[in-house]
Amino acid sequence: MTSETSTWSPSRDHALRRLRAFAPKTGARYAKQRNFDFGPGKHDKVSRLSPWLRHRIITENEVLSATLDHYNPRDAEKFIQEVFWRGYFKGWLEHRPDVWTYYKSDLVALVDRLDKEAGLAREYDAAVSGQTGIACFDAWASELVTTGYLHNHARMWFASIWIFTLKLPWQLGADFFYRHLLDGDPASNTCSWRWVAGLHTIGKTYLARADNIEKFTAGRFAPHGQLATMASALEDPRPVSLTAPIYLHPDLMGRRVGLLVTEEDCHPESLASLQPDAVLVLTGSTPRSVLPLGEKSAVFASDALSDRAQTFEAHFDVGVTVQKEGEWSDRLSDWMGANDLEVCVTSRLPLGPVARRTRRACRAAGIELLEITRVYDQCTWPHAKRGFFGLKKKIPQILSEIGLEQTDARPATLI
Ligand SMILES: Cc1cc2nc3c(=O)[nH]c(=O)nc-3n(C[C@H](O)[C@H](O)[C@H](O)COP(=O)(O)OP(=O)(O)OC[C@H]3O[C@@H](n4cnc5c(N)ncnc54)[C@H](O)[C@@H]3O)c2cc1C
Repeated sequence: MTSETSTWSPSRDHALRRLRAFAPKTGARYAKQRNFDFGPGKHDKVSRLSPWLRHRIITENEVLSATLDHYNPRDAEKFIQEVFWRGYFKGWLEHRPDVWTYYKSDLVALVDRLDKEAGLAREYDAAVSGQTGIACFDAWASELVTTGYLHNHARMWFASIWIFTLKLPWQLGADFFYRHLLDGDPASNTCSWRWVAGLHTIGKTYLARADNIEKFTAGRFAPHGQLATMASALEDPRPVSLTAPIYLHPDLMGRRVGLLVTEEDCHPESLASLQPDAVLVLTGSTPRSVLPLGEKSAVFASDALSDRAQTFEAHFDVGVTVQKEGEWSDRLSDWMGANDLEVCVTSRLPLGPVARRTRRACRAAGIELLEITRVYDQCTWPHAKRGFFGLKKKIPQILSEIGLEQTDARPATLI
């Protein structure tokens, strides 16, 4: 195994080891150093836990708990807030499904334009292949494709240069990220790109500045004279309605229940006190776009699921079926029939291609699908209707609601 591969090994054990090593570093030092991007292989000032968190190979509860084993919540305030950004964006998008629908249809239209407009295609190709002549941007494009990860600050600079210097459509940049990031996430990614463009906090854009890049890359890059000096907010006049998410807590008493595990949530052991009669793990990666998935992201979630599936039999004490290939409706139908199941249960599927694929497959096969919302999501999402500040104020309350006391640092007993 190369060191690059082992850095992003998808297993839960690997993530837990990384969490254990990083939890003591989530205090003041994280707050001070988190914005520095020292380059590929040198991102140890941040946790690099997002690929596992995104697929819930480890959970937010586990990360927050490990942090609070070492620090008082005040002393790890910045790190704790960062963890809550994930839930904030998820909740925000769940309240506004139109934003996701618009993004997807815009993307289809833009990919079509790439086929027809040679100028746009040339500029797009130069950007995604790292040949713009802006050294930092080109290096980040290459790092993204070869590793599946970019530091948060690099993501912000990259998106800003894409939109305001190269003047490319933000949706194509978001798609490039989403297809290649191991942590590629419909909510965090789409909302962050919109945030840079001035569409999330209306009118407030993020402008990448050469001085800032020079300082926070420790002098590796200094693109003076190469970047836009103004960032006028993009506008989108289309109506967006506010929809309240529904939180289900189905009563499964007396029914034969099958548990479905997908790449959206790879830790069903902590979902609820479920006692399924059979488990189905669908390990095949779901396409994220009309364009192909990145090489690294195509295997990360799939390998993670195969790894996780090995522990389900012992944990749930039932038969576990693992399927990589084939139509999901057929796989589901065969499994439900073979195990005489009445209802299929899975973790609440947030907006995105896996939700769409799963719901469609169940509808096509005439299967009743029940999605169970995690307590964490149910406590977080209702505070994500507007700006992050609304949720930030509620962090102490949420920590207590999810069973993480926020008094003094607890004895250092990590999970
Ligand atoms: C343009 C752009 C696109 C992005 N796309 C994604 C994406 O597709 N998927 C994704 O998970 N994150 C995305 N982010 C957010 C952020 O960059 C990553 O979550 C973070 O860099 C992950 O690295 P880390 O685990 O080392 O973070 P740390 O600094 O160690 O933070 C700990 C955890 O907090 C969460 N977190 C931190 N910052 C953010 C943030 N700004 N938004 C949401 N969650 C955050 C992550 O789960 C992360 O693992 C994007 C940010 C930008 C600016």
